[in-house]
Amino acid sequence: MRIIKIILGLSILAGVITQSCVLAADPDDIFEKQRLKMVNEQLRGRDIDDPDVLSAMTEVPRHLFVTEGIRDLAYQDGPLPIGYDQTISQPYIVALMSQLLALKPGDRILEIGTGSGYQAAVLAQIGAEVFTIEIVTALGNQAKTLLNQLGYDRVGVKIGDGYLGWPEYGPFNGIIVTCAPTRIPEPLKEQLAEGGRMVIPVGGSGFQQLFLLTKKNGKIIQEKIIDVRFVPMVDEKGKTY
Ligand code: SAH
Repeated sequence: MRIIKIILGLSILAGVITQSCVLAADPDDIFEKQRLKMVNEQLRGRDIDDPDVLSAMTEVPRHLFVTEGIRDLAYQDGPLPIGYDQTISQPYIVALMSQLLALKPGDRILEIGTGSGYQAAVLAQIGAEVFTIEIVTALGNQAKTLLNQLGYDRVGVKIGDGYLGWPEYGPFNGIIVTCAPTRIPEPLKEQLAEGGRMVIPVGGSGFQQLFLLTKKNGKIIQEKIIDVRFVPMVDEKGKTY
């Protein structure tokens, strides 16, 4: 009788434990599943085949770079608002621009338009030393805090006008611009190292064209990649470049 009671007690206990595990499914597991699906369908399923980009985007927790209320949308196939009229780019665009940079270990990369910090985190995860500039003070500070919390200590965040680049740390092996000027900023061309690559949307407000520029023997070679949609690059008064 006593043994039966113990067995009964144990099975009830096991039931309670199983049920509470089901109820409290770990949100990190849910996000991890969504992230793997995003990488397989939106990236591998298109033309992203750089193993470093694919593994970085499998690792970086994109949901932490959007506000809590829209975390369940973080792995969808589109951009999302991050406040201050700005957006975090669609995962595919982040992957494509990262792939176009063709990073080598230890590369020094300049990003214009930190936004949420997600693109910077992906580049750092691949192994680059990242210097990123954001013109909206609150966004830049928020990104700096999050990147520190997540341990991305090879990312330097500066608040300022990225049109001017960051000459103190140049020349850069790669420059990635995630806001759109109407013309390619001269200071950025100058700060690109010999053999370096710049990925930049050009065209101001509305739709733009994404270009890959390569510096060879001091000359810039320009290649058009696809049509894209980015927020405009603005100066400190909010005027579009
Ligand atoms: N790369 C970001 C998305 C960028 S959205 C991410 O991963 O989340 C574009 C960002 O460019 C916005 O945050 C906007 O404030 C910023 N921006 C616009 N003009 C700028 C300029 N002149 N210098 C630096 N940042 C600029």
